[in-house]
Amino acid sequence: MGLRPDLLTRRAAGVASTTLALLLSTAAVGVVPAASAFSAAPGEACVEPADVHADARIKAGGAARHEPNELTLAETREREADLAAALRERARFRAGAGASTLAATVTIPVVVHVIQENSTRAGGNIPDSMITSQINVLNQSYSGATGGAATAFSFQLQKINRVTNPAWYPIVQGSSAERSMKSSLREGGKNTLNVYLGELSNDLLGWATFPQRKLSSMDGVVVLSESLPGGTAANYNQGDTGTHEVGHWLNLYHTFQGGCSGQGDGVSDTAAEASPAFQCPTGRDTCTAPGADPITNFMDYTYDSCMYQFTAGQASRMLTAWNAYRAA
Ligand SMILES: [Zn+2]
Repeated sequence: MGLRPDLLTRRAAGVASTTLALLLSTAAVGVVPAASAFSAAPGEACVEPADVHADARIKAGGAARHEPNELTLAETREREADLAAALRERARFRAGAGASTLAATVTIPVVVHVIQENSTRAGGNIPDSMITSQINVLNQSYSGATGGAATAFSFQLQKINRVTNPAWYPIVQGSSAERSMKSSLREGGKNTLNVYLGELSNDLLGWATFPQRKLSSMDGVVVLSESLPGGTAANYNQGDTGTHEVGHWLNLYHTFQGGCSGQGDGVSDTAAEASPAFQCPTGRDTCTAPGADPITNFMDYTYDSCMYQFTAGQASRMLTAWNAYRAA
């Protein structure tokens, strides 16, 4: 599929008077295939506390040894079984309630919590304009305006909540401070997207919780504030960390989940991928199964300038999960 004009417009920031195609070839020059921290330790799997079920995004060469919560095969099987059970439960509920229809389009209310150490930009005080730009990026990404499939989802900013609390800054993944922060701040029901912005531990770009049948106070996404459009996180400052983390919040796995074998990410139209792709590689094809690696997919680990699409299968998986877990 050719590039759409909106994509070129959106991606023009920082890539003056070029096209994405040029950007791709430029990025490929002199780029050593990522020797990432993640791939340096392929056998390791980090175990997330069972009640959290979170997932994350890391930078190329970031300090994180691995994803704080990459899912094991057993964990994905547990999640898939839970999804099936949740769907059965909801079907029974709907039948009992007189067959209310399934949602086909969804507007998600968004509450943004800006966690600050102090009133300086370095202390987390980003302008409102970056937040509204992030909401625009979410709406473009999930509508298919940047390429790929349109999803059912759009996003509406409800509130910006600014919180100055050095004890919560940086936001440390898996810490008691994170738990305390979310317990104090989270708003709304299962359908409300709570976004926590700030400096993050271990060079992480963000992390998210998967949907659960019982609403957890931990539910939501955490995003590096400088990854928002116009932020200072070089190569990761066009807002796609937000898009990626919300994908997890809507039940998507990484495109490289499960590697080359088994059910992979549980989506049939994302080609299998042995490991995360970083930067913007050309000609990457790591599995013998048909299809080049989906490096332009929002659920891989490439640069923001490289990722611009969801597939129809991912759109379908997100809507199914919405109706199972988050719909009223
Ligand atoms: Zn992720």
